[in-house]
Amino acid sequence: MRRKIRVLFAAFEAVPFMKTGGLGDVAGSLPPVLKAAGCEVRVMLPKFGTIPEEYKEKMTHVTEFQVHLGWRTLYCGVDKLQYKGVTWYFLDNEYYFKREKAYGYFDDGERIAFFSRAIVESLQYLPDFKCDVLHCNDWHTALAPVFLRELYQGRPLYENVKTVMTVHNLKFQGQMSDYVLGDILGLAGVPAAADQLRSENQTVNFLQGGLSYSDVLTTVSPTYAQEIQNAFYGERLEDLFRRRESVLHGILNGIDTTAYDPAGDPALPAPYSAADKSGKALCKAALQEELGLKADPDVPLVAMIGRLTGQKGLDLVQCVLPDLLREDIQIAVLGTGDWEYEEMLKGYALGSDGKMSAQIRFDEALSHRVYAGADILLMPSLFEPCGLAQMIAMRYGTLPVVRETGGLKDTVLPYNQYTGEGTGFSFANYNAHEMMHILLGAAELKRTEPAVWDKLMDNAMAQDFSWEKAAEAYIALYYSTHPEITPYKK
Ligand code: ADP
Repeated sequence: MRRKIRVLFAAFEAVPFMKTGGLGDVAGSLPPVLKAAGCEVRVMLPKFGTIPEEYKEKMTHVTEFQVHLGWRTLYCGVDKLQYKGVTWYFLDNEYYFKREKAYGYFDDGERIAFFSRAIVESLQYLPDFKCDVLHCNDWHTALAPVFLRELYQGRPLYENVKTVMTVHNLKFQGQMSDYVLGDILGLAGVPAAADQLRSENQTVNFLQGGLSYSDVLTTVSPTYAQEIQNAFYGERLEDLFRRRESVLHGILNGIDTTAYDPAGDPALPAPYSAADKSGKALCKAALQEELGLKADPDVPLVAMIGRLTGQKGLDLVQCVLPDLLREDIQIAVLGTGDWEYEEMLKGYALGSDGKMSAQIRFDEALSHRVYAGADILLMPSLFEPCGLAQMIAMRYGTLPVVRETGGLKDTVLPYNQYTGEGTGFSFANYNAHEMMHILLGAAELKRTEPAVWDKLMDNAMAQDFSWEKAAEAYIALYYSTHPEITPYKK
């Protein structure tokens, strides 16, 4: 049968309706690209009370039904909205979703179990959509494949639905106390479900359930897909990933290449491109002035942008920062996170005499100016499922210095002094002096070999980080779960 495959993409957040982190970016930007690349994709989200009015007032009511959750029988409405060429469904239950925030409530386990069960239940009530593939994202939707197989499998409509489970953040797994299994999930009497949901310490682990029951597993870079099969990165799920290696795929995230474009970025004081980089020097001068750094076009300006947590390698930075500040470089940090790192950075900036600036806040426009004005982006992560900052930096001709882990390893080609190839610099071990050695080597190259540096900037700016490649890979996976359907993409 030759037709487009029909995919229901389920997530707990998506820009512009709700965003708390990277998942929101992906779920907001990937589906329209999937649709354009040739699959019939629809998205399902909770109808949060905080969704901006401009979207809520355009929604239309599709249907309503009841959802069983343990001993509860609950209302669920379905509204829909056309946005960016895609149909977005919103599951409505005001008791669960009309709250100030997306997460952080005592009953998150129950709210999220409701969402997952309602996704599966809804498949029989969507008037013009027969689902081939249910694509779930992170622990908030991980129970859907469990419910599908244990409670709906026998019904013809559900028989052919295949499931894809994507891990964006393995840190959050949805670990609940054991009573949830019976009281909320209604699965205490199903031995297979109990076995696959319970983790070794007798908690119920939602993500583990999704990873056990889904037909295909993905994560957001090929290297991370390998790394999570080892204890160091696997967050206690490494055995499961190893067991299911044959269905585990790493697909690199993309970035929004329109929003991050030095040639047309309204946040920048001067536009520039690979063909004409003169605007970048103006961006650097403006940034030095804005951040109180000494005006100097030649000093290598090293930026860090992101969450100030252990994951991002802040302890390495802390270890060698006094040494770095004695070198001929400038440092600009933009980020928020752990209090001790924030204070440490502010302290060093204060005593640096115009060599370092620490901006401890979330500021989207400033982040664009830093990506553009810096020469080097430092990202020495302990682990990094994909990482966006290094891709954005390369697009702005700012060369990343990264640790060779996860998506950093997959996106940054280290400089090879013999061939001149490369889009940045990298080091292997989680070691502060190794990081410093590579960083100072990069700074030295910037100061002494302008022609080589210029070529590296060209290489970096020529990289394709658009979503199209990821969309092609997801679509190929979707079709692989349904050999009876011949791809039709027009
Ligand atoms: P994470 O692990 O936080 O998802 P990524 O590198 O994948 O890290 O994505 C972080 C995104 O958030 C990037 O787009 C980065 O520019 C942005 N960002 C992080 N911290 C800040 C901040 N303080 N101000 C502005 N943007 C930020």
